[in-house]
Amino acid sequence: MNRLLRKIKIFLEDHWILLAIILAAAILIMLSAIGMSKLESYARISALANMPLTILVMLISGAITAFIYVSVMFGYMGKMKQQKVDPRQVDVKFSDVIGIDQAVEEAREVTQLLIDRSRLNKMGGHFIKGILMVGPPGCGKTYLAKAIATETGVPFLSMSGSEFVEMFVGVGASRIRKMFTKARRLAYSHGGCIIFIDEIDAVGRVRAFSFGGGQETNNTLNQLLVELDGVAGRSNIVIIGATNAAEGHLDPALLRPGRFDRKIYFSLPDVDGREKIFRYYLSKVKADPNVDIGKLARQAVGKTPADIEYIVKESALIATRNKKEFIAHKELSDAMERIELGLKHRMKMTTKEKEMTAYHEAGHLMTTYFLHPYNDVFKASIIPRNNSLGVVHSQPREEFHSQNLNHVFAQIKVSLGGYVAEKVQFGITTTGVSSDFKVAMAYAHRMVWQFGMGISGRIGDYTTIPPEQLSESVKERLNEETNQILQKCLTDVTTLLKKEKILLDRFAKELIEREELEYDEIEKIFTEYGKKPFFLENS
Ligand code: ZN
Repeated sequence: MNRLLRKIKIFLEDHWILLAIILAAAILIMLSAIGMSKLESYARISALANMPLTILVMLISGAITAFIYVSVMFGYMGKMKQQKVDPRQVDVKFSDVIGIDQAVEEAREVTQLLIDRSRLNKMGGHFIKGILMVGPPGCGKTYLAKAIATETGVPFLSMSGSEFVEMFVGVGASRIRKMFTKARRLAYSHGGCIIFIDEIDAVGRVRAFSFGGGQETNNTLNQLLVELDGVAGRSNIVIIGATNAAEGHLDPALLRPGRFDRKIYFSLPDVDGREKIFRYYLSKVKADPNVDIGKLARQAVGKTPADIEYIVKESALIATRNKKEFIAHKELSDAMERIELGLKHRMKMTTKEKEMTAYHEAGHLMTTYFLHPYNDVFKASIIPRNNSLGVVHSQPREEFHSQNLNHVFAQIKVSLGGYVAEKVQFGITTTGVSSDFKVAMAYAHRMVWQFGMGISGRIGDYTTIPPEQLSESVKERLNEETNQILQKCLTDVTTLLKKEKILLDRFAKELIEREELEYDEIEKIFTEYGKKPFFLENS
């Protein structure tokens, strides 16, 4: 009953102009009718004859006024894509948010606190006013915010931080004000409201005292701070901000207690998370039940939930185009490759060039298999794409957040594999090695200059010292060490490929014939020769 009264009150507040106009019109019509009845018949007829014209003129002028009003109001404000979303319409459950279990766990806790708010109120506890979601894009921040709204059952206002950043001074601040006014009313009538500001870093950047556009951002941010402080515990408004940037990029004032003091961190899903996400999206399409989801998840290292959704959708498109009944591993692998490696483009290669490329890629493939402690080869291809004639696609078996000496050494050796294969087979090499050399050189350089992984045992990060302060002899010695690392790797790879020449020839031949080799096909050939990957050989 109470809520109904509040809704009526809000309705009256919102529509009083309309109600006043209707009342005034009714009074005028009544007066006119009374007046008419008192007139002589001639005058009455003349008044009636004038009436249609009068009405027409009024309608036209009314339409013009309305048009000007609307175009001024909405031309200016129309860009504001503020959305009010009813909790029943959002309808995202926590069980729908998958692969980011830790963030969901924290969101559950927050939701529980929001629901128990009245209890907390009685106990005099501390309210949650602002929640900051921090993490890379595509990890489901918006989705989780919607889930919080659904689970707490209050309306949800959603805006993007960039909408507050305008050229005109004061517009951003006034939009903030409007949004909070709306939220307060919604909270008043619905018992609560959640405001979601995506890309809050667009507003909440560390305040810069510059002459350019900085001032406007400052005004907007100040307004946001004022509103945040104005949200009293009782009004039951919660602001959720989301940012891709690290917290350090946000103005410290935003992070102070009582503002965005509650944080939910998002990270890329791990292998289990990715498996769950694949399972979820694959359950929504027609997929071959034999698809090895575990393998897919391992293959998709570093992919966000949004990426995985995209991969599954893309694979459905590929399957349709190939007139397949079901989505199989092949389509999923092609879709993943498309975002990873770019589109294939058919280009005429001479037989000689194709042979060269085949040996080059076979070299990468074999060095990865035999010398890399952590990576699996998923695919080798000599179909040109982007700037390369061929590619070997390998992925770490597990996520690593740092690399040890063996790892870095392996990366260099794998990079040199293409060059060595060309050299071993043809005696001469191509310019196709330049990007590989770039990778190898960068690793070797950093090993010596930054990571203390050089052969001499010298440690320290020499890049922190300005180059002009380093003596020539130190630079010379460091560069010499870099070269030693490259030479050592070159020797190791040459020994390997010479020893396994028969296998190298075989892979080159298969690539020339089939152009692409998938994980299973590669694995089969190695097994045929009784070979095992590095990590099995050395474990
Ligand atoms: Zn290469």
